[in-house]
Amino acid sequence: MTVMDNKPWLPADAARILVVEDEPKMAALLSDYLRAAGHLPECLADGREAVPAYQARRHDLILLDLMLPGRDGLDICRELRTFSDVPIVMLTARVEEADRLLGLELGADDYISKTPFSPREIVARVKAILRRSRVRSHPGDAGPAAALQIDDEGYRAWFKGRSLDLTPIEFRLLKTLSSAPGRVFSRDALLDRLHDEQRAVTDRAVDSHIKNLRRKLEQAEAEPDCIRAIYGVGYRYDG
Ligand code: CA
Repeated sequence: MTVMDNKPWLPADAARILVVEDEPKMAALLSDYLRAAGHLPECLADGREAVPAYQARRHDLILLDLMLPGRDGLDICRELRTFSDVPIVMLTARVEEADRLLGLELGADDYISKTPFSPREIVARVKAILRRSRVRSHPGDAGPAAALQIDDEGYRAWFKGRSLDLTPIEFRLLKTLSSAPGRVFSRDALLDRLHDEQRAVTDRAVDSHIKNLRRKLEQAEAEPDCIRAIYGVGYRYDG
């Protein structure tokens, strides 16, 4: 089933959003909230239709349920990432879902738990992700990400022109996180990036390095939550 919604009048930042969700009530709610926020949702219930629909209409963002008839969300996400950077938000039934991690490693930009289900939260996250992806595709708009400057060879970084005075590990963490603003990196993924620096870095050490990194960023007047902890998953840089 495909439903395209068209409106005669749309705000300038209206986004075309592909909602792949097989629970009709959930899909209808999401669609209503997205439309109320000025977007154009298109709903699909069958996983097999997701990639062809995106290829045909190149939506601005995809809300992708994990468990779908026909084809699961992870598989769809994996295929989309072979040819597109479209922002993908995974919808998961439970916060504990182990597959969630795998979804993030496959290149989803965010995940949202459906229990408790908060369409308002989903719309807010969609807005934040769209804003970041627009900054990414129009770097001339000097968004918050532009406040950060990184000197790869010198292992130095500046925020709003202020030197951050980072340890090599903090530098690596910041470089990794800021390479994909808005994308969540698991602790394991971050540890992989630290491999050359120090073989004995543990999960907990990652947390404490992040804490120091945040403190240094705040001293340079970055937003206090520019590096956000995503409970049970890892961290993301919001710029
Ligand atoms: Ca489902």
